[in-house]
Amino acid sequence: MDLAAAFSADKLSILRRNLRRWYGKHGRHLPWRAAGDPYRVWISEIMLQQTTVTAVIPYYERFLARFPDLQTLAEAPEQEVLRLWEGLGYYSRARNIHKTARKLCHERGGNFPRHLDELLALPGIGRYTAGAIASFAFNQSAPIVEANTLRLYCRLLGYEGDPRSTEGQRLLWEFAERLVPSQKPGEFNQALMDLGATVCTPTEPKCPSCPLRSICHAFQQGRQHEIPRLVKRVAMTEVTEASVAVRKQGTFLLRQRRDEERWAGMWDFPRFEFDDDLNKATLSRLAQSLRKLTGIEARELQRVETIRHTVTRYRITLHCLSAEFVSGRLLCKDSPMKWISPRQFEDLALSMTARKFARLLTKGTNQ
Ligand code: SF4
Repeated sequence: MDLAAAFSADKLSILRRNLRRWYGKHGRHLPWRAAGDPYRVWISEIMLQQTTVTAVIPYYERFLARFPDLQTLAEAPEQEVLRLWEGLGYYSRARNIHKTARKLCHERGGNFPRHLDELLALPGIGRYTAGAIASFAFNQSAPIVEANTLRLYCRLLGYEGDPRSTEGQRLLWEFAERLVPSQKPGEFNQALMDLGATVCTPTEPKCPSCPLRSICHAFQQGRQHEIPRLVKRVAMTEVTEASVAVRKQGTFLLRQRRDEERWAGMWDFPRFEFDDDLNKATLSRLAQSLRKLTGIEARELQRVETIRHTVTRYRITLHCLSAEFVSGRLLCKDSPMKWISPRQFEDLALSMTARKFARLLTKGTNQ
């Protein structure tokens, strides 16, 4: 049976009526909502991918203070955009934002397209973001499915399959299309997201106070804790890396990460993966790897700190090492490298671990 089609017209009208009433009283006041400006909607929605509202708000406010509109963003150097994104992760999002701003300024006079197909053709804009911009900013009847609405739809429909599968996605988008009204679609979509985020929460949904409980399949079956089906977690891979801060007359060597690397575009201390413990032989191999990558000879490699962090499915143990420059000239053929004074650390977009390491290196100094 097609679950989306089986959701009756009566249920649909109850959903729309109860949701609007609920939203009038309980909708969230978020800084990017008030103006209905496509630029603000776009920046906030890209920041919110994989990140919580609470974490995004200070980043959003700093970003908007520096880049209040498309034109300012398009004219800024990429490094400055990355610097303001630093700490949010998934840096390709920031690079795509910058590319899109330039494209819209050069090709469309600084205006956003209003139609889904044109929005989808822009770098970094997927189906959800396009639907959010079209409905929140241009009042178009465009559907949305994101983490909160995905969970809400699954429970309303009692969908027991994997919502991330092709079949699950087809069903949920079809359902979202049926739901979205022609009147105030942006407000309606925001109401769905708010209900998912604050009432139909992942672990303890507040069903007794939910305005949709009378039409919710999962609630009626007492299965709201089992739906949506949990997808098996990907096994984590343990990785050991070393980051080497080479010092030369009060400056440190930094390297910009290449397009095909993690954290592309960000600056980092030269970084290497290895298998062994951090012993004398490993330190000597790391010195060789450093020479091969950068062209410089360094001595006295020693551990300053060990940082543990997780990136997607990798659990990384990162040994932060310091070293002294001996000789050699920088080989910048594959990626830019430069000697940076501690004072300049603040001007560059650094990877999260490089920022931590830079702070350790400058702790207790006046830079
Ligand atoms: S009744 Fe419960 S499970 Fe159903 S939509 Fe509301 S909060 Fe979610």
